[in-house]
Amino acid sequence: MPSATAPLRPRVPITPILSAASFLRANAQRLPSVLDAGATRFVTSGRIAIGLALREMGIRPGDGVLVPAWHSASMVPPVLWLGATPVFYRIGPDGAADLEDIAAKAPRARALMATHYFGFHQDLPALRALCDRHGLALLEDCAHAFIGECQGKPLGSFGDYAIASSMKFFPIYEGGVLVSARHPLDAVALRPAGAGFEAKVALNSLERGFAYGRLPALRAALWLPLVLKSAAWKLRRARQADGAATALAPTSSDSSFDFDPRWIDKRSSLFARLTLRLVSPGRIAALRRDHYQRLDQALGKLPGVRPLFGHLPDGVCPWVYPLVVQDADGLAARLGAAGVPVVRFGHPLWPGVDAAVCPNAAHLSRSVLSLPCHQELRAAELDWMIDTVRGALTA
Ligand SMILES: *Cc1c(COP(=O)(O)O)cnc(C)c1O
Repeated sequence: MPSATAPLRPRVPITPILSAASFLRANAQRLPSVLDAGATRFVTSGRIAIGLALREMGIRPGDGVLVPAWHSASMVPPVLWLGATPVFYRIGPDGAADLEDIAAKAPRARALMATHYFGFHQDLPALRALCDRHGLALLEDCAHAFIGECQGKPLGSFGDYAIASSMKFFPIYEGGVLVSARHPLDAVALRPAGAGFEAKVALNSLERGFAYGRLPALRAALWLPLVLKSAAWKLRRARQADGAATALAPTSSDSSFDFDPRWIDKRSSLFARLTLRLVSPGRIAALRRDHYQRLDQALGKLPGVRPLFGHLPDGVCPWVYPLVVQDADGLAARLGAAGVPVVRFGHPLWPGVDAAVCPNAAHLSRSVLSLPCHQELRAAELDWMIDTVRGALTA
């Protein structure tokens, strides 16, 4: 029965959630992940990994860092944390880095961040050559591209450093990776974040698994610890009301854009590191590609929308399915009320980044609306999502 009020949470999980199937292996051809690109350090978010990468590059107060004009607002605070200045560069209509604009702005910068939007990689050989020509350090932002390859090499292996955001691809509550194919990471020393953090991360993943009915067999065994957990959290929050204590988990896990330097030297949880090791990238890539293509066939030609990318090349493992929409705000509101989870990447942009800085970024920020295509979506959920989006577009 339709409800008069918007659901408290989406009817379909927006990010992968833990299920028994998460640990299955795929027969599909294996795609490499950033973990295959070089030395790795496991931290609590992608933005913390950006801060560490820039610090390893020797970025100092007053240095310029080239940041794409279409970005996640979480990419800028790590630059500011080091006292550096973001220099926004232009992108093309589909997000391709504008090499001429980068060359023109290179004298004002020491490093370049390049984002592989939605898993579709940039022209890495060209960016690498450009950076070498201008003495820029290259940071590959693989937040949308944990898995994938370019010219037979894992994404993350062209940059001096690369970062990834584990939460966008794996059924975990926190996690980011710093990678380097070119430099040792010996100087990046990490410390455990404590037992409270470890417990919160593990229980949070299990809780989401229950909430979406993915882990029914475990329910009986675990409801008591979950009840105890929320009681303990309430108590803790009351004690923390004076704001003096440190939070148990970083705010990056709660879909904010904050950057909290207290997490800079904290190791990702054991739960997250084990999950990254146990979950098969082959299954994730095969299912995400399949879901992406089903969404594209069902929705890509409807009136008022067009897919951001014309086709899904081999070697790409998509993060979400991005559509360019005429009235993205209106559609997002209608879908949200119906319980369809939508992602508005790069919306809003960092203050001051507008059409004068980059017309394409301003347009994409306003118009792109994405749907989940992750590996834990069920066929019935995908069908329901397709029907609901179709209804909202043709209403
Ligand atoms: C999400 C995101 C980040 C930051 O990752 P977190 O794990 O959320 O800190 C960086 N870059 C891009 C392009 C992102 O979408």
